[in-house]
Amino acid sequence: MTGPLFDSHMHTPLCGHATGSPREYAQAALDAGLTGICFTDHTPMPAWYDAPWRMRLDQLTQYVEDVRAVQAEFSGRLDVRLGLEADFHPGTERYLEGVLGAHAWDYVIGSIHYIGAWGLDNPEFIAEYDNRDLAGVYRDYYALVEGAAKSGLFDSIGHLDLPKKFGHRDPDGYAALHALDVIAERGLSLDFNTAGWRKPVAEAYPAPDLTRQAAERGIPFVLGSDAHKPGEVGHRFTDAIKQIHDVGGRIVTYQGRMRHG
Ligand SMILES: [Zn+2]
Ligand SMILES: [Zn+2]
Repeated sequence: MTGPLFDSHMHTPLCGHATGSPREYAQAALDAGLTGICFTDHTPMPAWYDAPWRMRLDQLTQYVEDVRAVQAEFSGRLDVRLGLEADFHPGTERYLEGVLGAHAWDYVIGSIHYIGAWGLDNPEFIAEYDNRDLAGVYRDYYALVEGAAKSGLFDSIGHLDLPKKFGHRDPDGYAALHALDVIAERGLSLDFNTAGWRKPVAEAYPAPDLTRQAAERGIPFVLGSDAHKPGEVGHRFTDAIKQIHDVGGRIVTYQGRMRHG
């Protein structure tokens, strides 16, 4: 493997569904031979939105302090950065602007986890896929991805082809390509998210064909394990790098919300 290995997508227990302390994630990264990590825990959102799956606004300072402490402890051994995985959900942009303005973040992922009130990647609500036309789900989903790219709030789009998580693959693909055009135009990167290899679909986000389409549009990739426990840090990065390099893609990181590499 060549180049610095950097895992730019991982969580902390503050989101309520991850285990292990931030220092354990950092130690796992060192043990896996990584040069750096960026914590990207789920942002606070307005109280009515998905509250059990994210830190509260009054925990944001704690999050920053926790990551800063790990940064200090691992200084000189591991490059530790401070980021967020934010949700794009129309109507919450102004709230999010407040969160993003509150601290000096290195990297902000924009993810779509909801179409309207439906949490599309929540295993509890898989049945909803049978109630809808799948091509329509993807059209709605990628329209939201385009909204995220156009909002100017994010550095990258999280887990691009997320609706495939439980095996409901995109029957058409046109909406995805249009979204990639918008992502390229707006200068965002893609979260290359290896968590998909741990899900029923058993495929990273984005899929190999979308990885190629993104690379052809000059869209760079940010490697992320989406670890929700320390043992997942750096998960299948060798395979990720191969999938990206096979199509001539470029891998970058973010610091101070500026792209590097
Ligand atoms: Zn999570
Ligand atoms: Zn996510």
